[in-house]
Amino acid sequence: MAKIARVEAFVVSQALARSFHFSQWRYDRRTVCLVRVTTDDGRYGWGEGYGPAEVVRAGVEFFAPLIIGGDPLATGALWQTMQARGQDFARRGVLLAALSAIDVALWDLKGKLLGVPVHVLLGGKRREAVSVYATGLYFDDGPHLTERLAAEAVGYVEAGFRAVKMKVGLGVEADAANVRAVRTAIGGRAKLMIDSNHAFSLREALELVRGVQDCDISWFEEPLSPDDYEGYRELRARSSIPIAGGECEYGVAGFHQLFGARAVDIVQPDICACGGFTEVQRIAALARAHFVHLTPHCWGTGIGFAVGLHFISTVDMLPGRMNLPEPFLEMDRTENALRDELTVPRFQPVDGRVNVPVVPGLGIEIDPARLREFGANVS
Ligand code: CA
Repeated sequence: MAKIARVEAFVVSQALARSFHFSQWRYDRRTVCLVRVTTDDGRYGWGEGYGPAEVVRAGVEFFAPLIIGGDPLATGALWQTMQARGQDFARRGVLLAALSAIDVALWDLKGKLLGVPVHVLLGGKRREAVSVYATGLYFDDGPHLTERLAAEAVGYVEAGFRAVKMKVGLGVEADAANVRAVRTAIGGRAKLMIDSNHAFSLREALELVRGVQDCDISWFEEPLSPDDYEGYRELRARSSIPIAGGECEYGVAGFHQLFGARAVDIVQPDICACGGFTEVQRIAALARAHFVHLTPHCWGTGIGFAVGLHFISTVDMLPGRMNLPEPFLEMDRTENALRDELTVPRFQPVDGRVNVPVVPGLGIEIDPARLREFGANVS
């Protein structure tokens, strides 16, 4: 039986041609920590962590010695070993992202070793293709932001997306004007979601809900601080717009707190941060018990997107009926060479859907030459 021989972390980075920002900070480049787990007979799997890449790398290096020599098929047992060593210091946060990156690589490896796609390991896919929504419509410093956002949204609709998510968080008045302009531009051709990245107080969030309640908004994402569970509960009770959140939440115990507060209608774990495939299965079970819809947060390379594809292909909406809407997967459309050029295949939507890989593991491959071009110290 093969044993785990190496756990390597690679930080890849690429400067953006044009910077953009959201309510919290500005992006001038994209940087991600990837993980490769290799067996003593030369088989390997890829993972990535969502979070500050250099910190994720340090976390991967912290966990790696704990699983060297271990059985790569024993994903749950290896997860427990790593989590037990980290929980005294980081029950939540970036150390969980490092654990997630290793866990995802182990699941890719496990699928390859057993000759089945990850969705088979997860219990089997419910659909051949996954509905994706376009994430874009960030802020820039140029003139005519509102017009630029409206034109960008129309571009996504014309590319076949049936749902589009835009940023809010500049301020209630400016946001309401931007949302209205985008809805007017796309008409009824696509769903529209808004995301403030926890920019607002409860009163501001309620004010924005009132300001855009006639714009047919499918969800209001991260309206409040992720620590404000009581605020979420009150906002959700008073908002005519469904409330989404959870990309800053970690581990099944963290999500238990979110669900216990009845904080969200839609929960958005990032599988590459919340604890990997091993933990998101537990989170999905908890979401199911609370009748909360799940749509993963996804903001990384093609590895992270493949992770979301496999997982959401296995998930159903609740409570269950004929002709249910399908769960969505987030598809970042901002400039990101790490997403577009590092992995093969390059995932592309057709009529707003992306086919689920059917080859063993995650179904992606990485070109070592491209890794080096993006700054990874890889042999
Ligand atoms: Ca978000």
